[in-house]
Formats: sequence, structure tokens, C-alpha cells
Amino acid sequence: MDLNPVTLITPSDIMEYVFCPRFIYYIYAAGVPQQEQRRYKVQKGREIHEIKQSSNISYLWKKIGCKKRESSVYLSSVRLNLKGIIDEVLTLDDDTMAPMDFKFSEFQDEVYKTHRIQSVCYGLLIEENYDLPVEKGYVLYTRSNTFKEIKLEEKDKKNLRKIISEMLRIIEEGYFPCGTGYTARCTDCTYKNICCG
Ligand code: SF4
Repeated sequence: MDLNPVTLITPSDIMEYVFCPRFIYYIYAAGVPQQEQRRYKVQKGREIHEIKQSSNISYLWKKIGCKKRESSVYLSSVRLNLKGIIDEVLTLDDDTMAPMDFKFSEFQDEVYKTHRIQSVCYGLLIEENYDLPVEKGYVLYTRSNTFKEIKLEEKDKKNLRKIISEMLRIIEEGYFPCGTGYTARCTDCTYKNICCG
């Protein structure tokens, strides 16, 4: 029996960490739950079904050169300390792979940092589990019917591994990290009464 189960971090956890590293400390090291719904919990389900029925989506697969798709794929990696459910795992014509993430929002001028980081998480999980290269990811903004390609470079993957290792230090060793540098985020924070900011 494994007495020391491996910590598997989700993309939602990583989003919390990026917003403020102390969230991870309070939730996992101190065991103080958030009173509100998790900020980055991804809203999925019925809307995904609606997207799959849409005729626009087949045009998209053709445009990006996708020859195989798998939907709602759960992947994990003990080596990466990572797990997640990927909306679509794509095999492309050039035998590389790519994650596709659905966002139920409009595209606003640029791909948000949080969406990029999620794409890197999914890309790493695909590489690890399928043993094929992942050089890009896609985000489909369903409200504006727009999709964006994100280059997944080695530096992005390295940065994510660094974030995960910092998170493990907090979760497994109880390290108390610095809070966010953006103090405006503290105003509505669940933890503002116990956090020294
Ligand atoms: S009060 Fe500020 S520093 Fe503390 S957890 Fe909340 S956002 Fe982070």
C-alpha cells in the first residue's frame, strides 16, 4: 500500500497560484477552504455538448489539419505531478498533437495568460501520456466563434514545471509564500482577515 500518495496538481490549482500563491497555502497546507466558488473552476458540460453539435466545428478541425480527436480526456502524470481533463486531444496531420480548450466567452484582443498556462498544462500531459511532440495548443472562444493558436515553447513548459515545484513546496512542506504583488486583489479575498497581505 502506498502510504505517501503523489500530489497531483490541476490546472485550476495553477490558476489559483498564479492569482496569489497564498491561496494554495491556505487551501492545502493550512486546510482553510475558500468560502466562494473557486475563481477558475471551469464551467463545462452542457455547453460542450452544444458546441459538438455545431456545424462550424467541423470546419475548424479541417482548418487546423486535425486527423483524430478525443473528447473530455482525463490525463495524469506522476512524474509531472499534474492531472487534468482536456476538452479535445487532437492528433494533427504532421503527427504532432495539440490540446483544444473551450472557453465560453468572447475573444478579447489577446489570449489571457491564464488560458496560455492551461494550454501548457494540457500540452505537457499529452506529451507525457502519448509520447508525441506537442508544439501548440488551441483555445476556442465559443461566444465569438473564434479560435486562437498558442505556441507551446520549451521555455513555457520549463516555467510551468518551476511553478509546479514551487506549489509542491507549499503543499508538501507547508512553505508560506509571499502574497500577490497586486494588492487590489486582496480587497475581495476570502483570506483577507487572516492574511498579512
Ligand atoms: S489577502 Fe491578498 S495576499 Fe492574502 S491570500 Fe488574499 S490575495 Fe493573497
